[in-house]
Amino acid sequence: MGILKQSDFADVQRVGIPRALLYHRYGTLWETFFRELGREVVLSRETDRALVVDGETLSVDECCLASKVYLGHAASLLGACDALFVPSIENLGHRKGFCTKFQALPDLVENALHDRPLRVISCLVDEAHEHMPMKEAFVAMAGRFGTGTREAKRAWRTASHAQERSDRAAAGAQERLLTSLETVHGGERPLAILLAAHPYLAHDAYLGGSIADPLRRLGAAVVYADQVDRERTLKASFEFSETLPWMVNRELIGAIMLLHERIDGIVLVSAFPCGPDSMTDDAILRCIQGKPILNLTIDAQSGTAGLETRMESFTDILRYQKKGGYVHA
Ligand code: SF4
Repeated sequence: MGILKQSDFADVQRVGIPRALLYHRYGTLWETFFRELGREVVLSRETDRALVVDGETLSVDECCLASKVYLGHAASLLGACDALFVPSIENLGHRKGFCTKFQALPDLVENALHDRPLRVISCLVDEAHEHMPMKEAFVAMAGRFGTGTREAKRAWRTASHAQERSDRAAAGAQERLLTSLETVHGGERPLAILLAAHPYLAHDAYLGGSIADPLRRLGAAVVYADQVDRERTLKASFEFSETLPWMVNRELIGAIMLLHERIDGIVLVSAFPCGPDSMTDDAILRCIQGKPILNLTIDAQSGTAGLETRMESFTDILRYQKKGGYVHA
């Protein structure tokens, strides 16, 4: 086996980023970082039916819908970029783990696309075991593009600040929405429904749009569980469980706890078959009292018709509940 050259990505000019999975959490950071390194970023198109079908064809049946969709996005970029950025993100520290799919993603992509011309740029983020925080992983990766350490650290600062600004803006806009709803009194106030889902479901227009759009058409204001201050949601989640290993699930649970008194109901959405959610959804349904919860699972075959009927019934229940209905804290 040859020794890996220090600057083995120096010739990569166009970096392909699949618009799926953790792109919906770190997309601003990733795009800014590569642009700061002087690279062109090529994003895959928004999810559509064809990408879902391609991803399904490339996947084994056991994969969750979200990772199938990721493979569809990755395949769509082949030929449009010099290399794909596929990080392996294991954890950001103790009790801040990510689903095993994110750890295995580079292997998953290389196996699924083994018969096509593919080059993968990756880095390992594992603070708990390898003492490799995201910043250091990115600075080391920049070295493989031939960028010096000082320049790489500057690119990281610019990119991480851009991501923080974007997260703060989203959380601020949502807080203003909630506050504006609270100033409307009586029967005029629209229902406030918390959409509790991983960001790649909630903010993917094809996957999550099939949930949020009908709710809005039914007159509800949709509040996103992942657009609440993450430090606060993570902290709050420890009142729910000391041992839960997955950071994003923690944040979703923390958001439910923090917003509980400000919302009328919760739509809990998972991709089929999601390991972490199968455990946490069950815990949420058992332990979160006093608010109606609609639990939806979406898979590659789901049409929206069945979901729309369930959401119509759910909003009817919430309106009844607002008039003093039957779910009591
Ligand atoms: S958390 Fe669930 S939906 Fe997300 S990648 Fe893992 S198994 Fe798939």
